[in-house]
Amino acid sequence: MEEETLERLLDAANEACSHSYSPYSNFAVGAAVLAASGRIYSGTNVENASYGATICAERVAVVKAVSEGENKILAIAVYTPSASLAFPCGMCLQVLSEFAEDIPVILADEGGMKTYRLYELLPHRFGEQ
Ligand SMILES: [Zn+2]
Repeated sequence: MEEETLERLLDAANEACSHSYSPYSNFAVGAAVLAASGRIYSGTNVENASYGATICAERVAVVKAVSEGENKILAIAVYTPSASLAFPCGMCLQVLSEFAEDIPVILADEGGMKTYRLYELLPHRFGEQ
């Protein structure tokens, strides 16, 4: 991925994080996906008083992209303003894998960033043949 694209992806995740609705966990997360069209879609975590209705930032970003007609995701960045990297949960990895192959999963926090591969974090997904 080009440096400029990576920066735009990280900026979008960071910006989305600033809109986090997380009054229950106080754990803000921002995510951004790069779609095959070149467009970037971002999302933040939106919690709910019922807890179970909470949706993660990663899934918000994926759902926004797919809702706009995208069906292929090339990369995802996840940002959290904490001292340690936040890995996507299993449900988000599963949803992401529906629209992505072995893409880079870029995790960033206040101290830096680290890139993993989707299949490293989710070696076998539900539904795989
Ligand atoms: Zn999740």
